[in-house]
Amino acid sequence: MSSTKEHCSESEHLKMNQNAKDALAKLHSTYTHLNPSSLQAHQSARQHQPGGNTRTVLHANPFPITFASGNGCTLTSLDGHTYTDFLGEYTAGIYGHNNATIRAAIDESLTRGWSLGGNNRYEKELAKLVCERFTPTMELVRFTNSGTEANMMAVATAIAWTGRKKILVFEGGYHGATLSFRNPPRESATKSVNLPHEWVVGTYNDIERTDEILAALPPKSLAAILVEPMLGNAGAIPGSLPFLQFLRTYASSHDALLIFDEVMTSRLSYRGLGHKLGIQPDLMTLGKWVGGGMSFGAFGGRRDIMEMYDPSKSGSLAHAGTFNNNVISMAAGCAGCKVLDEETTNRLNDLGERLKEMVTDVVEKHFYGNECHPSAADEGSLKGNVYSINPRENCLKMPTRSAIITQNLLPSPSNPTPNLPPAPNQPHTNGTTNNTTPHTHTLSSPQHPHLPPSPPSKPPLSISGLGSILALHFPPSSPYLPSLFYHHMLSRNIYLAERGFMALNIEMGMQEVEMFVQATREFVQRYGEVM
Ligand code: PMP
Repeated sequence: MSSTKEHCSESEHLKMNQNAKDALAKLHSTYTHLNPSSLQAHQSARQHQPGGNTRTVLHANPFPITFASGNGCTLTSLDGHTYTDFLGEYTAGIYGHNNATIRAAIDESLTRGWSLGGNNRYEKELAKLVCERFTPTMELVRFTNSGTEANMMAVATAIAWTGRKKILVFEGGYHGATLSFRNPPRESATKSVNLPHEWVVGTYNDIERTDEILAALPPKSLAAILVEPMLGNAGAIPGSLPFLQFLRTYASSHDALLIFDEVMTSRLSYRGLGHKLGIQPDLMTLGKWVGGGMSFGAFGGRRDIMEMYDPSKSGSLAHAGTFNNNVISMAAGCAGCKVLDEETTNRLNDLGERLKEMVTDVVEKHFYGNECHPSAADEGSLKGNVYSINPRENCLKMPTRSAIITQNLLPSPSNPTPNLPPAPNQPHTNGTTNNTTPHTHTLSSPQHPHLPPSPPSKPPLSISGLGSILALHFPPSSPYLPSLFYHHMLSRNIYLAERGFMALNIEMGMQEVEMFVQATREFVQRYGEVM
């Protein structure tokens, strides 16, 4: 069992950070030695692209890997190293890297020519598949080339529909390159280049704060609420049901539109996460996997709103885009939506839940030992209430991360790993009590009065997310750990985002999950002392 920084003095803490930094420098050096071709590719790209980069998120220190090919759930670098791909192209790569059905659909479409400059058969079929799948929200749909564009159009649609200008978004929300509200993350000093809309920025999962912000707006000024049902890029932080319900109710009662950005989350359940939660937005946006792994985006929803784009009506709104109906994305999307049927979607999301449980288990065992280690059976007992006494071990235990997530006892971007849920009957920030809204979560809630003063502390590594979209978290006071983890995993031939983001793909099974869990076990064993 290792100690964690929570119990350290300031100087011990600094020493641990220095040791983590030294360990990272060693991994960087090995990485540089093992990847001369990627280094050379990076250096030559710098002559023609700023920082050798055309997609900021793919930058990594000391230089990013350049891939030569992908096959199934693996990627092979220019240097000939093969990695199991746990990044899954930030959720777009759900089919793996060369799905035969999608490949056949693209090949077939290309035999008939491309850039036709007119309507084609595939866009109609894809529209039908998308509307039928995302029923009842998606009554009418329009395609774009990216999720960014889809959200940009959804916001423009709301402004046109309501005649208002303000858009409520949330700290940590990411809706595209020009619609990014990430609070400057520690691992990145990059700044957003946002469109100049009248943004109003709320706090995710915080009903009270959001209500205050909304109450301060001039009457009838809010056009839309744009929200991810689970923050994706901010670290796979699920939205709490009461929070999302609050947004639905607020939008309806103020004649504003609720827009669910499901560019990522639409894969978390067959009909999307909003549908699973029982909340119907006015508009929703899609992207990533829905285009079969090709460039894609879509926005749509209520028929009365989307009919503003009917060009046969006078005064209709224009929506252009040379490649909106490009045959490759349309054909790949049709095939992809069939490949990702309900059963496959469920299997993949179950696999992600299993990975989350197993990683949590490894971390808890390492840092807290066996005595308070929660079992799956104990997790079940947490469903009805927050805490339970483990009769076998006779210890008071915390809900595991996955239990916390199941119960919507959820974190916010500024605190992705809250320690404790509110005590029964303690007032919540939205003025309700545990009795009436058992799943409401607040970050500032006082500790349960019956808990010991120092319950098992937050582990220095935790995992959040839902189903097949997950993220690893390290304490902000340990700035080297995310990169240390990333490079450790690369050394074990596992690829994920440096910031800890992961998305599984359908080529994966338990073998890959076990490989990831074993590599995580090795990480905590090797670096536990600097955590
Ligand atoms: N919305 C969300 C929730 C996303 O995660 C992303 C991409 N990461 C986008 C929008 C933007 O999509 P794209 O990269 O296709 O523009």
